[in-house]
Amino acid sequence: MEYFFCDTHKKLPETYDYLDRIKVRLGIKIHYLSDKRGFEHWLAIHDGLLPSPQMRWCTVKMKIKPLEDFVGDDEAISYIGIRADENREGYISTKPNIKPVFPLKERGLVKADIIRLLEESGIGLPDYYRWRSRSGCFFCFFQRKYEWVMLAQEHPDLFQKAVEYESNHADGRTYTWTDGESLLQLLARKDEIIAQHKKLMAKEKNLVITFNLN
Ligand code: SF4
Repeated sequence: MEYFFCDTHKKLPETYDYLDRIKVRLGIKIHYLSDKRGFEHWLAIHDGLLPSPQMRWCTVKMKIKPLEDFVGDDEAISYIGIRADENREGYISTKPNIKPVFPLKERGLVKADIIRLLEESGIGLPDYYRWRSRSGCFFCFFQRKYEWVMLAQEHPDLFQKAVEYESNHADGRTYTWTDGESLLQLLARKDEIIAQHKKLMAKEKNLVITFNLN
């Protein structure tokens, strides 16, 4: 069994700390796989076009390719940690020698099960879980608006870097990480976004209580 982490070098510091915790707790080695050219190189190749759900060049260039290079032509089973309650496919190999297996999905394990397993194993949750629901690059376009607001609070330097990626085009073109507004516009609506988030959390809590009582 070999463990790997596809490192875009743009993850949150909490993610790297968490990997260190996992290595110590399990006594394992983790291969850090990355594309040596890095995000800035690929951003320039794409003429400043930021990656998005429709154009996920970041995943292809900085995660899938390094993994496929690492495996080469060896026969491999790739265990993928997607849960049964997640509505996504994850990495589906285009190489016949890499067989994807979804152990958590196959066993019907949902979020509460994974949290319990992590707590019971002594590993616990990553620190970013206080304010963000998934790992990923600090600028990941999949994050919620509330998480952008929290990024500005927890890591102002990284938020500023994400702002620069949006606006750093000599000819004035602008791409944004979130639909319909720039990060600075989003941050200006901070209070509204936090209030909406609190309302949503309260609603979800009520749903759980209602569900449990039934
Ligand atoms: S975490 Fe988000 S931004 Fe980073 S490679 Fe994956 S999809 Fe792209």
